[in-house]
Amino acid sequence: MPAGEPGMSTNETDEKPSNFLRELIQKDVTAGTHAGRVATRFPPEPNGYLHIGHAKSIWINFGLAEDFGGTCNLRFDDTNPEKEDIEYAEAIKRDVEWLGYRWAGLHHASDYFGRLYDFARELIEKRLAYVCSLTEEDIRLYRGTVKEPGKPSPDRERPTAENLDLLERMKNGEFPDAQYTVRAKIDMASPNMKMRDPLMYRIRRVPHWRTGDAWNIYPMYDYAHGLSDAIENITHSFCTLEFENNRELYDWFVDNTSSGAKPRQYEFARLNLSHTVMSKRRLLQLVKEGHVKGWDDPRMPTLSGLRRRGVTPEAIRDFCERIGVARKDDSLVDVAMLDHAIREDLNRRAPRVMAVIDPLKVVIDNYPEGQTEDIDCENNPEDPAAGMRKVPFSRELYIERDDFMEAPPKKYFRLSPGAEVRLKHAYFVKCVRVEKDSAGKVIELGVTYDPTSRGGEAPDGRKVKGTLHWVSVPHARPAEVRLYDHLFRAEDPAPLEDWLSDINPDSVASKAGFVEPSLAEAPAGRSFQFMRLGYFAVDPDSRPDSLVFNRTVGLRDSWAKAQKSG
Ligand code: ATP
Ligand code: MG
Repeated sequence: MPAGEPGMSTNETDEKPSNFLRELIQKDVTAGTHAGRVATRFPPEPNGYLHIGHAKSIWINFGLAEDFGGTCNLRFDDTNPEKEDIEYAEAIKRDVEWLGYRWAGLHHASDYFGRLYDFARELIEKRLAYVCSLTEEDIRLYRGTVKEPGKPSPDRERPTAENLDLLERMKNGEFPDAQYTVRAKIDMASPNMKMRDPLMYRIRRVPHWRTGDAWNIYPMYDYAHGLSDAIENITHSFCTLEFENNRELYDWFVDNTSSGAKPRQYEFARLNLSHTVMSKRRLLQLVKEGHVKGWDDPRMPTLSGLRRRGVTPEAIRDFCERIGVARKDDSLVDVAMLDHAIREDLNRRAPRVMAVIDPLKVVIDNYPEGQTEDIDCENNPEDPAAGMRKVPFSRELYIERDDFMEAPPKKYFRLSPGAEVRLKHAYFVKCVRVEKDSAGKVIELGVTYDPTSRGGEAPDGRKVKGTLHWVSVPHARPAEVRLYDHLFRAEDPAPLEDWLSDINPDSVASKAGFVEPSLAEAPAGRSFQFMRLGYFAVDPDSRPDSLVFNRTVGLRDSWAKAQKSG
């Protein structure tokens, strides 16, 4: 599949038409494996905010558990005290709930530090683990290469009693950070490098945000992860492909400890999205160095950024469904596919309103001065239950500047000198006057309206091709409208040496526009379709006297399309 082509993989040998994870659970349930139980977990490390890639994992773990009447836990993988923070943990909970999922249990790997320690003692007693005094550097050298077996640590045969004693003293903080590690005793000649006596514990004499000073050793990911799954009685442990080589080790820890459970790990392809980066380290850098305004900057691929932009959880779940789950295909998904899912969802739910983001003033020369009338407008033609509202109309209006051309090309059906168009839901108007400033810029149009065309139809049956949106000048509410574009210019910025310099300088533009008065009290987060412009959401910065809207996604613009295709 060419990179960037959204959707369905065509890799027939590796991928089943449906979702291979669902199928393998189905098989287990049918065969009565795990007594027919399905228990999954979503295991984020609280060292950053969740992004759309995590949404795929959440959708898989929570969604599949739901499908099979099982349970899904939220488990913080908080084994790395230096990078983790409660702010991140809280944000993660918020995002999972926002996506529409409820965890059966809320756990932390740190809840299991005691149990994991006991498992370590058990492995030592079984002569399957030892305390090693090699430096990090030597551990690496002793490990060998893919072609050559490693050589054993001099401590590999350390007597059990001595191992147990050292372990306890490591835990109590008697040794400096680099002095000892605890390693599993597996196979220094294994073709799988992960099996060459991997680390289980290292000394880190730092406090942990949840366990405080209780521990001076912290478990490694590979050791803590599978055993945490076992402790929680997880049946299916889904993770991304980069952990494929870790599976053998996952099984080894589970099989050699008396956890009593047999969770099994399955890998799927991670989601990569075009025109953005998805590693937490890079997202953190964007935030820390001020390239974006924060984790919830609407240009970020984070769930908090997408939420602020006005993307709905339904659209994200629908997007996950559409991209499907591939076993191997790690290619880039076109962000246009996400936009499509967002549009489909907002099309159903967003009320249609009128806003002008690049205003040009129009005066209806033959409309009575000082008169105002209420125009009936349908809130959402896709949803009859959405009802009607009244929008004030008067002699002075704003229209969109690009809805007028003085010398229009063929097939331009909007306003131009002498041309007649419909003002949406209101009247037919004809352009009779063009006012310019000294620089030749059009600053005002004069039009005449046909009073018999109220509601937007002429009784004599004459047709117009163009329909423009408008906002009445005396009723208009000023609004800052923020338009967003891709954060990165390159389709795949991640491999670029200088990925930061690929940031799109036009990724955000702010416009001073006007919106119809019905939007004055719209609460933060509420979505609207600004007719002919796109979908917009009220930003949390918005106040009734200074409204702020974010463009969530544009509409397909038939004019722009026609121009492109010539
Ligand atoms: P980092 O980007 O810092 O390496 P991570 O993406 O692995 O971190 P975790 O907090 O460990 O972050 O992720 C939690 C879960 O989400 C893991 O099971 C991980 O495999 C999954 N996940 C992370 N990124 C993606 C992605 N792009 N697509 C699908 N799943 C993902
Ligand atoms: Mg990770």
